[in-house]
Amino acid sequence: MAAEHSSTVFQQAAQTALDVQNASNLSGVVRSLADVTDVLWIEARRQGKGTEYVNTHPIVTLFLAKLVSLNGSDCFCSACVAKHSHATAEVEKIAGGLTDETNGTGVK
Ligand SMILES: [Zn+2]
Repeated sequence: MAAEHSSTVFQQAAQTALDVQNASNLSGVVRSLADVTDVLWIEARRQGKGTEYVNTHPIVTLFLAKLVSLNGSDCFCSACVAKHSHATAEVEKIAGGLTDETNGTGVK
């Protein structure tokens, strides 16, 4: 039951990362990112993972991309565009209820 609750919160964090792509206020995005990283730490501990999981999570990638974009510092090189679309696809899977564990894509 606790795990179910934490995965719902995790799903909501993914949805927040998608919703934030329409944001226009950097401060609001930064505050949401702080909340979302708290959720990622819960998920990291649940999966027995740590700092790298949180630092490199696709949810974080989407938040950072938005912050960079609001700052006008986006990079549109093919590597960055590919990384962004990969992160978006991953986050959409999580938001849709397919976690790292169930779709197998998070396995390194
Ligand atoms: Zn680039």
